[in-house]
Amino acid sequence: MAEEKRTRSPRKKPDRIPRQEMPVRSAQDRIQDFEEVALGFDAVLAQKEAQRCLQCPKQPCVDGCPVSVDITGFIHLITEGDFIGAARKIKETNLLPAVCGRVCPQEEQCEQVCVVGKIDEPVAIGRLERFVADYERNQGTVVLPEVAPPSGKKVAIIGSGPAGITVSYELLQAGHKVTIFEALHELGGVLIYGIPEFRLPKKIVAAEIDTIKKLGAEIKLNMLIGKTRTIDQLMNDDGFDAVFIGTGSGLPMFLKLPGENLNGISSANEFLTRVNLMKAYREEYATPVKVGKKVAVFGAGNVAMDAARSAKRVGGDDTEVSIVYRRARDQMPAREEEIHHAEEEGIIFNLLTNPIRFIGDENNHVKEIECVKMELGEPDDSGRRRPITIKGSEHLVEADTVIVALGTMPRKFIAETSPDIKTSDWGTFLVDEESGETSKKGVFAGGDIVTGSATVIQAMGAGRVAAKAIKEYLAEN
Ligand code: FAD
Ligand code: SF4
Ligand code: SF4
Repeated sequence: MAEEKRTRSPRKKPDRIPRQEMPVRSAQDRIQDFEEVALGFDAVLAQKEAQRCLQCPKQPCVDGCPVSVDITGFIHLITEGDFIGAARKIKETNLLPAVCGRVCPQEEQCEQVCVVGKIDEPVAIGRLERFVADYERNQGTVVLPEVAPPSGKKVAIIGSGPAGITVSYELLQAGHKVTIFEALHELGGVLIYGIPEFRLPKKIVAAEIDTIKKLGAEIKLNMLIGKTRTIDQLMNDDGFDAVFIGTGSGLPMFLKLPGENLNGISSANEFLTRVNLMKAYREEYATPVKVGKKVAVFGAGNVAMDAARSAKRVGGDDTEVSIVYRRARDQMPAREEEIHHAEEEGIIFNLLTNPIRFIGDENNHVKEIECVKMELGEPDDSGRRRPITIKGSEHLVEADTVIVALGTMPRKFIAETSPDIKTSDWGTFLVDEESGETSKKGVFAGGDIVTGSATVIQAMGAGRVAAKAIKEYLAEN
């Protein structure tokens, strides 16, 4: 008997379906234009990937999503072939699934806590979300949500990024009148002017934001609140019952080094805005952005990767683009996927290198950067090993275009004209975490203006919190 046990072949484990790869364009092909890099799942890939979901009763993935998308629900509908139903399930809590499916850092949110991820790669929740949202839009079957009867209350939304758009969507559905004030000439915030076309096509953003217009939001573009109109004027003279501030964190920080005001040096914010919003990479537009043959991008976050990859596309094949960063590769804050794509596209990583001054030519145009080499010392407050200058390592780096991507701070227009709204030393607005209400009655805030630069879905989550509180406030006032 014992002998028989020993010879019996081991029970075969059922084969796991591996995580499905999303097709992407080759690096050589995609650096020729601004068309999207990732091509998305088709129905076969999506259904195969959806089958990997275990439909966990506790749904940890839903807790990992800042807007609590019903992930189990929509993935189940995909397995049944009901792609439109799946898209509508997501839209119960997320107006922008085609955007979030593309740009959410899923590996730190829903997918990070996916149970399948403990034994294998997590279910590709973001890719599935993108697939059903694209499917619904391409089929032309997008429907508007039900709207409550008019409440007679008016709310001013300042800023049209993901935070402001989310609040608008929720309040419009509740029957409140919404007016969006936007400083720029297009709606969408960073989705439109920051994130490049090759990661997030603008027609997709516009299509998702269109719902707000169809629900009847009044749109006022080119209106800089704090200059053109103050919060007090909106509330006291223009009759708004409540205000939501979602103005983001768009003021760029610089290195503060000698020569930084030379021609050819700009912030990533300015560079990307010109490339995205003014279509400065297209010859038929009258606002060309100039990229030379040697581009140095300072910083190593997602914005730096976006700037470097955009510069490569604008400059062409003979333009050399480098990321210059004072720490090492594994300390770079950008998403691994973005770093990988940048490497594939030929971006050079000049690591453990720090600038000390910029040197110009006779026309005051940058031509070189004096840099020093760094080595890693003991960990600092952030837990990362501190970069220390190597003595005598000064050297010159040739550069005719410099892009500084060191981070951003909130602009001060509103804070300066509304001193009764309390702000932090950084200029972010201080709010009650449960409601998003500021120190000024009836004025709420959320998104990057409160947290500093964060993520699209966090801004949307803050928008949902504030919208709920605004509805309660309007019911009581
Ligand atoms: P914003 O999107 O900044 O929108 C604020 C809006 O308010 C803007 O349209 C602005 O013009 C307007 N405004 C400002 N002041 C005024 C005023 N006084 N009056 C009227 N209007 C005003 N996040 C991700 O999750 N994934 C990514 O891949 C990603 N990539 C990024 C790439 C770049 C280049 C950048 C810059 C950011 C990226 N982020 C990414 C971060 C993300 O885009 C932001 O966290 C998010 O957009 C914040 O949303 P928001 O609504 O708070 O503000
Ligand atoms: Fe995940 Fe973002 Fe979708 Fe939420 S919105 S489920 S975090 S991809
Ligand atoms: Fe499916 Fe992962 Fe969510 Fe479980 S945790 S329900 S496997 S997506």
